[in-house]
Amino acid sequence: MNDCLFCKIIAGEIPSEKVYEDETVYVFKDIAPTAPTHLLVIPKEHISRLDEINEENSGVISHIYEVISKLAKDMGLTNGFRVVSNCGESAGQSVFHIHFHLLAGRDFGWPAG
Ligand code: AMP
Repeated sequence: MNDCLFCKIIAGEIPSEKVYEDETVYVFKDIAPTAPTHLLVIPKEHISRLDEINEENSGVISHIYEVISKLAKDMGLTNGFRVVSNCGESAGQSVFHIHFHLLAGRDFGWPAG
């Protein structure tokens, strides 16, 4: 996707603080963190929104959760963490390349705001 901020980050055209990368997933620090740990976990494939997940592309989502589980262990997030994926503007999605916020290091309220 030519005009996608996160595709440009994956391609190295826009700088990011990379935490992890493999063939299908890229993980980097959120530029405006809302918790002591705030990472963004994204597929390298451009998928705009969570409601574009289907039988053909859902494999990347299970892999993303494997990566999240591994990162949580590696980073010692034993007190817990939260994973958030906003879908659509009213849910707070501002970048239309699917992404999973990995948040940790403080207590989180519920229900979400
Ligand atoms: P959302 O609002 O759920 O779509 O999340 C988008 C996230 O991308 C926000 O938390 C932003 O702070 C983050 N963000 C935007 N631009 C950048 C960037 N250049 N590098 C890292 N994170 C970014």
